[in-house]
Amino acid sequence: MTELSTNADYIALEDEVAAHNYSPLPVVVSDAEGVWVTDVEGNRYLDALAGYSALNFGHRHPDLVQAAKEQLDRATLTSRAFHNDMLGPFCRDLAQLVGKDMVLPMNSGAEAVETALKLARKWGYQVKGIPAEQAEIIVMENNFHGRTTTIVSFSNDPEARDDYGPYTPGFVTVPYGDLAAIEAAITDNTAAVLLEPIQGEMGVQIPKEGFLPGLRELCTAKNVLMIADEIQSGLGRTGTTLACGYEGVEADVYTLGKALGGGIIAVSAVAANKDVMEVITPGTHGSTFGGNPLAAAVGHAVVKLLATGEFQDKAKELEPRFRERLEALIGQGVDEVRVRGLWAGIDIDPDLMTGKEACKGMAKRGVLAKDTHGSTIRLAPPLSITAEELDLVVQSLADTLADARAAKGQG
Ligand SMILES: *Cc1c(COP(=O)(O)O)cnc(C)c1O
Repeated sequence: MTELSTNADYIALEDEVAAHNYSPLPVVVSDAEGVWVTDVEGNRYLDALAGYSALNFGHRHPDLVQAAKEQLDRATLTSRAFHNDMLGPFCRDLAQLVGKDMVLPMNSGAEAVETALKLARKWGYQVKGIPAEQAEIIVMENNFHGRTTTIVSFSNDPEARDDYGPYTPGFVTVPYGDLAAIEAAITDNTAAVLLEPIQGEMGVQIPKEGFLPGLRELCTAKNVLMIADEIQSGLGRTGTTLACGYEGVEADVYTLGKALGGGIIAVSAVAANKDVMEVITPGTHGSTFGGNPLAAAVGHAVVKLLATGEFQDKAKELEPRFRERLEALIGQGVDEVRVRGLWAGIDIDPDLMTGKEACKGMAKRGVLAKDTHGSTIRLAPPLSITAEELDLVVQSLADTLADARAAKGQG
């Protein structure tokens, strides 16, 4: 077998032996630090996707690496058959960070969402008194909550859903941000409304001001749980600890993931108050790896970084600069931009180029980003980025668009 050395070598190998469930940019990362990654040929790139916000603190943040290393030398997995000394402190401080009583630890984001759905159904039967098997959960059009069979059952993205049936029943879909539609959909059997406070995969879609507070009021009035999936929007990304916090809204249940693992290990969690969480009793839900000491140590270190407020402040502080520079591209190949904190959805003029082509152009200029749904690209750089590095990100897009316009004679 020939030795692997170039990007092309590794890509050819992956293509042969790794399932084709993604279509990555042709960059093979071997090393990473802070906002920068290096490929196997020694090229450096600024990572403006940050693992879909799993790397909010950058690659290998020293505090997080230290927490992981120290824990590797102590204990890594106990299973929940026994207690471990990392779980309690992690859950206490995470619960405090998000303003809830209790935390249920899992691993992937999809598992956290599944947990929240089970929690809501059980609460519906045992507390609200919904008749057996009748619980309904209201979800939003164009949602993204993960990849399990139940979760894709209520996706309306054909790519994510098609040919995975039969689908799990019990979900009612309404247009995102439409309070009247939600109110009309609520029945006596409604246990919960599940939503992303900002729809990330859909291209950073931000609901109208007043929607989240209105939904909060509606859920309280109708005795329905409000479940906020903050897996991508939460943990500093939008300039507040949770995206719901931007309008001072408190959901009943939060799902957290991605950045909770600090880019080191899969850590997810559901946070809720006792009256909801205590419907879960021993044996009714679990995970072999959920709450393991290594995950709890890293998650706890993440919570400590967020407790300082430093990363939230950074996202808030850089938001106007980010928005201003991106808005300057409107009419230059960009149709619309949506920005909250250090998170941006950018609609590229589809006549000029696709989102994927734009990302390839940016990669050639040393910036990694990700397209989503045709002509939209998403930027979510690590919150540790400097103002100058942020300018590099926008400049790489500006240059990519300028080249495409010149090639089309629009320059
Ligand atoms: C990524 C994501 C998930 C799923 O997380 P996984 O760790 O990939 O299972 C769920 N909800 C939202 C909003 C996400 O962005």
